[in-house]
Amino acid sequence: MSINVHIVPILSDNYAYILEGADDSVAVVDPGEAAPVIKYLEEHGLTPTLILITHHHWDHVNGVDEILERFPCTLAGADPEGSAPDSPAKKVIKARFDEVLHESCSFSFAGEEVQTLSTPGHTPEHLCYYFKESGFVLCGDVMFSMGCGRILDGSAAELYSSLQKLGALPDETLIYCGHEYTQSNADFCLKIEPDNKALQKRSNEVNALRAKGLSTLPSTLSKEKETNLFLKAKSPQAFKELRTLKDRS
Ligand code: ZN
Ligand code: FE
Repeated sequence: MSINVHIVPILSDNYAYILEGADDSVAVVDPGEAAPVIKYLEEHGLTPTLILITHHHWDHVNGVDEILERFPCTLAGADPEGSAPDSPAKKVIKARFDEVLHESCSFSFAGEEVQTLSTPGHTPEHLCYYFKESGFVLCGDVMFSMGCGRILDGSAAELYSSLQKLGALPDETLIYCGHEYTQSNADFCLKIEPDNKALQKRSNEVNALRAKGLSTLPSTLSKEKETNLFLKAKSPQAFKELRTLKDRS
């Protein structure tokens, strides 16, 4: 892998990511809080040239202004236009974007092609960033390990097809999500499929990591295909029922 992905825990259970290319290109992804990200950048002598946003929710963008003040660079992300009009984070982020990205806006970072995948459902516009050569995807609040985002401002059918789109990536793809929800997702999935051996194994693995205070990410798509019941749902309707059940759990 030519791009290194550094995981920066922020807020209570979010992750920001710092991408470091072999050519010293540096990008910050979804900085919902500035201080831990700036601290990491300074400690490692990194200067970002790009901030990438998956979607406009405050826990993914709140640190943007402070980081831009310290490190002026390009801010790019999904167009929040279709989402709830009363969202203050939406107005702020839209005004700050240097580049509003869509699915057809694939770009290059550290000499590598980055594919922007339109993945609505959690919000009307949400982008996942797929780094084919390095073999990883940044999937924000669309897919979590053994889970998926809430349907806040989109529809179940949209979120289902967004998950299917991620599911079509190569099995070995590393999955970097916006939140550390893995343990509670595993508990939920185990209630639905208590005899699923892969799920039992992954749940044990996850509990051991969390007991040591470690991140459960990245996951891989092949692990998710065995254990993520939302990704495995056979139809939009089955997916919708599962998501409703999870919302009530
Ligand atoms: Zn969100
Ligand atoms: Fe979030």
